[in-house]
Amino acid sequence: MNKEKALHRIEELRAVLEGHRILYHVHDTPKITDEVYDSLMRELSLLEKKYPEFDTPLSPTHRVGGDPLPKFVKVTHEIKQWSFDNAFSYEELLAWEERNAALLKKAGVEQTPTYIAEMKVDGLKVVLTYVDGVFVRAATRGNGEVGEDITENIKTVKSIPLTLPERVSFTVIGEAWMKKKDLEKINRAREKEELPLYANTRNLAAGTLRQLDPKIVATRNIQIYAYDIEGGSYTTQEDELITLDRFGFLVNSERKLCRTLKEAQAFYDRWITRRQTEDYGIDGLVIKVNERILWDTLGYTAKSPRAGIAYKFPAQEVSTKLLSITCQVGRTGAVTPVAELEPVLLAGSTVARATLHNADEIERLDVRVGDTVLLRKAGDVIPEIFDVVTDLRPKDALAFVMPKYCPECSSPLSKISIGKELSAAVYCRNKECPAQHLEGLIHFASKKGMGIEGLGEKIIEIFHDIGLITDAASLYDLKKEDIEGLEGFGEKSADNIIASIQGSRTVLLHKLVYSLGIRHVGEQTAKDIAKHFNSFDELRTKNTEELSRIEGVGEKVAEALVSYFKDSANQKLLARLLPHLTVIAEKSTSEGKLFNTTFVITGTLPTLSRDEAKELIEKNGGKVSASVSSKTSYLLAGENGGSKRLDAEKLGTPIIGEQDLLNMI
Ligand code: ZN
Repeated sequence: MNKEKALHRIEELRAVLEGHRILYHVHDTPKITDEVYDSLMRELSLLEKKYPEFDTPLSPTHRVGGDPLPKFVKVTHEIKQWSFDNAFSYEELLAWEERNAALLKKAGVEQTPTYIAEMKVDGLKVVLTYVDGVFVRAATRGNGEVGEDITENIKTVKSIPLTLPERVSFTVIGEAWMKKKDLEKINRAREKEELPLYANTRNLAAGTLRQLDPKIVATRNIQIYAYDIEGGSYTTQEDELITLDRFGFLVNSERKLCRTLKEAQAFYDRWITRRQTEDYGIDGLVIKVNERILWDTLGYTAKSPRAGIAYKFPAQEVSTKLLSITCQVGRTGAVTPVAELEPVLLAGSTVARATLHNADEIERLDVRVGDTVLLRKAGDVIPEIFDVVTDLRPKDALAFVMPKYCPECSSPLSKISIGKELSAAVYCRNKECPAQHLEGLIHFASKKGMGIEGLGEKIIEIFHDIGLITDAASLYDLKKEDIEGLEGFGEKSADNIIASIQGSRTVLLHKLVYSLGIRHVGEQTAKDIAKHFNSFDELRTKNTEELSRIEGVGEKVAEALVSYFKDSANQKLLARLLPHLTVIAEKSTSEGKLFNTTFVITGTLPTLSRDEAKELIEKNGGKVSASVSSKTSYLLAGENGGSKRLDAEKLGTPIIGEQDLLNMI
């Protein structure tokens, strides 16, 4: 392929990929499979590597995220970013209309405004600048005058175009948001890693866009609804939305033109219930005067443009009574106070319990047994008490005092040090605490742990309560006869449970490491650790320094591992447990940056011999094979590469040079 042809092909591919981006990410109507999309992308990427002079940072191949930033740079907005005033009732809406009518009359304008009602998406406002049809910058709203430059992060968001079909210059305002199901997924993962949870989708969107590493943002599925153009001339707000859609932005199609505010109110009433079923958070409607010509006449208050108003939905909050506060002992010994509530319907489900986290939180809320409390769902998922109606407090209500002794084993409770600080929670330090053992067993058998499917929480609880099992090792001593006589268990269910336990005996190293419930060692950390060892025994003998050198393992984790293995009770447990298990090491298969990558080498490389290149690839977990096939990830080509290069070109296999390989590792 000559240069001219290559450029033509590059341009063709970019246009086709942009078309498919719009179908997929804007209109949600993909016309080609992911595989086809990926393969077109690969062809483009290959051509751009071969002809770097035709590469541009705006190519769709660059949406995967660039290098992490040291910090965000401040950006002064060219046009001040206002926010609309709020209304909370129909009366306030009518008052807004009346004020506007008076202003228009005073200015001698006879036109009566009509309205457009749009969803007020619960996200983060972003300001996108395009010059001559090219995306140049994205910033957060910040304080309205100065925001932060998040260009590299926004570039990874597929619901906005990087190039426009026309050479126009303008600023587009949008709302960045995330799907509720993504929030749940991410929170579930964070819970396992013992990381703080995101409270809601707005929180998650904000936290994601404030990531310094664009590669993480690229994995997060951020969406942006564009809703405003600054610097264009459009007769109506609706025109602007139509234009944005035409330019390849994602525009929320849920909107309504209203001749009167009464129509807007009817639309609002419908959405109060309908919003629950959408996959994004909506906290109200934004009602705007549709005729742009009236916007200037209406002007601004000190804080907001008068042409629009945010009509908020009533909050999803309920009151109920706090019946008692109980304490729960977790796997790590942490004791958590839990509010036992008079059952109440909240956002579609019945809530009877809510965590109070720790004594500090109880003090902050000043919550007492017998109080009427206000409940909401944080992030639409976890119920939380956020306030107390002190006027309704019974005279005899007592302040709650955290117990001094474990409710399960009566050992004294105390805070533990985490780094330089003391924990907020108190812990039961008794290693023989039955509650900790039970939670530990549930964790051990869980899907991400040993994956003993037939052994659910309820069954573990029953077996534990009657003393049939005491710890992880005792599971493997269980016999069919122990179970089948128990109430509710027959021969068949006993068989199944035993088979399930026996089936877990061959286990991947990371699953074993995770299932032991070592503090700070979540699933991902366990995987990071397992990659570096040939056996469980090798891991056990390492010191803090050696462990903390592993990527993904900090000092905190390293210390937790060492102290776990040093503990004599744990050593006794492992001595009984390990003989039952066949542990499969993952080192050889999953270490290195080139894991799962297959190379073919051809020609003479500038500095490395072919054997050296091969060694380097294998040391980083990659494979080298002799001939190019559909399974080849890259052709590493030097000078005078012959037929292999032709094969690679035919198959669309990316061709890289020595420097590319060195960059990869
Ligand atoms: Zn205890």
